[in-house]
Amino acid sequence: MASTPAHSELPKLKLSPRGAARLKSGHVWVYRSDVLSADSVAPGSLVTVADSRGKPLGTALYSSASQIAIRMLSPEPVADFPGLLRRRVAEAIAYRESVVRDTNACRVIFSEADFLPGLIVDRYNDILSVQVLTQAMDANPVRETVISELSQRLNPAAIVERVDPRVRELESLPPRASGTLDGTKTSTVLTMNGIQFHFDAFEGQKTGAFLDQRENYAAAAQYAKGEALDAFCYQGGFALHFAPRCSQVTAVDSSRPALEVADRNAALNRQLLNGKEIEWIEANAFDLLKDYASSAHRYDTVVLDPPAFAKTRRDLDSAMRGYKELNLRALKMLRPGGILVTCSCSYHVSQDAFLEMLTSAAVDAHRTLRLLQVRGQAKDHPVLLGVPETAYLKCMIVYVS
Ligand code: SAH
Repeated sequence: MASTPAHSELPKLKLSPRGAARLKSGHVWVYRSDVLSADSVAPGSLVTVADSRGKPLGTALYSSASQIAIRMLSPEPVADFPGLLRRRVAEAIAYRESVVRDTNACRVIFSEADFLPGLIVDRYNDILSVQVLTQAMDANPVRETVISELSQRLNPAAIVERVDPRVRELESLPPRASGTLDGTKTSTVLTMNGIQFHFDAFEGQKTGAFLDQRENYAAAAQYAKGEALDAFCYQGGFALHFAPRCSQVTAVDSSRPALEVADRNAALNRQLLNGKEIEWIEANAFDLLKDYASSAHRYDTVVLDPPAFAKTRRDLDSAMRGYKELNLRALKMLRPGGILVTCSCSYHVSQDAFLEMLTSAAVDAHRTLRLLQVRGQAKDHPVLLGVPETAYLKCMIVYVS
């Protein structure tokens, strides 16, 4: 393993006053336009950052390709980088041990929120799935240290890597295939809130499941009743949690592979479902909701968990129109006293903007909405105060009369 150069030997990057102020406010990113000079700094280097006068502000990871040139690691000098990585992995695991309940699947490392910028690790029972998002985290010595610490502490049957080719291209990293890093197992069954789910390491969206909704499934299930509709159901997260409490559950997604897993998940939980069948429909949820809203279909519970509409700030206006249209349709379908569970996973849509959209949809639908719960992502996807980008998921549970 490469040893860390002494702190004084690290390349030193000076920041503009705006870049330095950003760090002082608690943020951990500095954009390229605020780096005064980074000539001849190797991609993915450990660097010392300093203000424009040369006063050190801490130690960071450098990317030569991303607009986010600097991701802070520590306000201190870092003498032993592998040691720091090991400590951070251990702290991330300890945090989950103290806040995560009722599951053997959760996010173990969430990038900036665990001070391991560019690294994501999800645990699915006995399989760990790793995603590398930056040049620094892609370096072999870093990978080796992280994998060895994860193995020692969690003793998984396998560690796999899911590669997002687009991310590697944006970071100017050479192409790399998804694959197994340790062990051979590639599928397993996980449990959350007493419900079982199939997991296949190289199938599905994200690293396999939407673990960030885990606590929201349980919270929403407390209110679910009667006839329920789960729009954008993926592998059945909400639908399976609702089924034991509802008289009928219909779930919609446009992805056939996702629905096939959803159906297998229902079979896994046959006992809990006690003979109840969930109706899985492969359809465009926007069209289906439009048809249902204008016909006689009525529900007691509706979930809306669409994909991110606003991928960038520029998409925001059309995204808000999309959310409103969707929520309006759901409100029209809900019986008086019904429950709406409505989500947005777009970071660019703030909680305030989302609630404003919902208020306006309620006015148009002539419905009264009472907010039962304002929720975000599960605690294993921590929100780091000072880094607003770590808060992205909104989940509102609303009583509709
Ligand atoms: N509620 C799910 C996650 C939903 S993610 C869970 O908790 O696991 C968004 C889902 O929307 C994905 O499964 C995707 O396949 C689906 N999707 C995207 N566009 C769609 C469309 N137009 N109609 C229906 N489903 C769509």
